[in-house]
Amino acid sequence: MNFQIALIPGDGIGPEIVAEARKVLDAICKKYGHEFKYKELLLGGASIDVHGIPLTDETIEEAKKSDAVLMGSIGGDAATSPWYKLEPSKRPEAGLLGIRKALNLFANLRPAYLYNELKDACPLRDEIIGDGFDMMIMRELTGGLYFGERKTVEENGVRKAIDTLTYDENEIRRIAKRAFDIARKRRNKVTSVDKANVLDSSRLWRKVVEEVAVDYPDVELEHMLVDNCAMQLVKNPGQFDVILTENMFGDILSDEASMVTGSIGMLSSASLNETKFGLYEPSHGSAPDIAGQNIANPIATILSGAMMLRYSLDLDKEADDVEKAVQAVLADGVRTGDIMSEGCTKISTSEMGDRICAKILGE
Ligand code: NAD
Repeated sequence: MNFQIALIPGDGIGPEIVAEARKVLDAICKKYGHEFKYKELLLGGASIDVHGIPLTDETIEEAKKSDAVLMGSIGGDAATSPWYKLEPSKRPEAGLLGIRKALNLFANLRPAYLYNELKDACPLRDEIIGDGFDMMIMRELTGGLYFGERKTVEENGVRKAIDTLTYDENEIRRIAKRAFDIARKRRNKVTSVDKANVLDSSRLWRKVVEEVAVDYPDVELEHMLVDNCAMQLVKNPGQFDVILTENMFGDILSDEASMVTGSIGMLSSASLNETKFGLYEPSHGSAPDIAGQNIANPIATILSGAMMLRYSLDLDKEADDVEKAVQAVLADGVRTGDIMSEGCTKISTSEMGDRICAKILGE
């Protein structure tokens, strides 16, 4: 099959890790006879250096023309980089927020998967880890408390701040559908997380999720209060498949879930809109402290590429191949510095990419 992929290498370690993800996608193309056409786009600091602004109309238009976008990360060291002498709306991060908005990416997906080989990095006890865990947090990204009306006023000499949490049924329905679709590609279970014992927005959330569930009789739905969910994530993480939740709860829970895996260089993510289109990127930043040294871990970006194959291109078998290759390389005992442990061999960014390709191609 033929696909058009936009690549955004970005800043810091971005170009190094995206190069490895591209190598891996090329290995998949070679194995399965697909053809991916790549278009490299500028965003963040890389765009400021060329155009003086972090996001151009050209980048938005080219991204829209593609089937999916694979990104490294953007941003520099705020203390030393000239990008941070610019006003906030012209800094690298403004480019990222701008492209998410322009592409209408309302659903954020972050997997938290514990590799057997990296169990030592997990802060949970062995009896809690059990057989490991493999969950997907789906967070609503463009509504709720972070986008509601807000103001700070003074009443009778007392300062008062007001934030509003608003969701309409359409915003809830579109992300709920996405969550059920994704559960169908996994283990057919959705845990919808809310605070329906207190909040009206959560009571509407629960109702609409139940309405959507009617069209997915093969997917099990459970509801969980957010405070209980925060506890369950560290008490019994193995119970979760897809966790569906609103913006602020998702912000907090996705960080909690990813940190229980213990390895920042392994965490992929995706942001999706109403179509198959998505922007895929590692959860970590541009790590300017190690940029250009060929020592960054490219696996989070490579796994983001696997998510792209699965969720935007519907190439599930190919995505499985990438994930299995990553697992097999870890089982061989090779590691980049960030996930290094005793008895393993340290390898570079590009060696990691090469070894994953070799597993895919059976070399
Ligand atoms: P960071 O994630 O870049 O780095 C935190 C620490 O983790 C550093 O020590 C870094 O070396 C290490 N690290 C991160 N990714 C790694 C990898 N793949 N392999 C090995 N080690 C890795 O976070 P930060 O230092 O707070 O931010 C640096 C820059 O990244 C800032 O400009 C920030 O705004 C930006 N940022 C961008 C994104 C994004 O593009 N989505 C996300 C977060 C931060």
